[in-house]
Parts: sequence; structure tokens; C-alpha cells
Amino acid sequence: MTDDERAALETERFQALALLHHQQGHAAMAGESAEFCGQCGNDIPAARRKALPGVTLCIGCKAAEELLERRR
Ligand SMILES: [Zn+2]
Repeated sequence: MTDDERAALETERFQALALLHHQQGHAAMAGESAEFCGQCGNDIPAARRKALPGVTLCIGCKAAEELLERRR
């Protein structure tokens, strides 16, 4: 792999990560967990916020999201 190819890969990875962070919102970018679910607005239990820093979805929405991703 040349340096150019490696640089292109790094850029691609960075952009994918930046997009992911954008989708998760600014709270996730700061490493802070959201108090309310970004999907349905329900409270996210404190224990879940603590266990998963940067979490933005409640358990139900996260499960639904993972199901959708698996189907893709
Ligand atoms: Zn939710």
C-alpha cells in the first residue's frame, strides 16, 4: 500500500466517523449521553447512560435500529 492509498483510507475512515457522530448529534460528539432518546423522546435510564457514554437512544429504539441495520 502506498502512502497516498493509506492517506485516502484514513480520510475515508475519518469521514465515516464524522458522519456517524453527526447523525448521533452533538451530545455524542462531546462524549455525553443524552437524557432523552433521540428517536422517541423517552427518558434514557441513568444506568444506561452511565454504561454507554454517548448513548442517544433508549433501549427499545436501539434494539429497533440494530434490527434494521442487520437487515440492510
Ligand atoms: Zn427511544
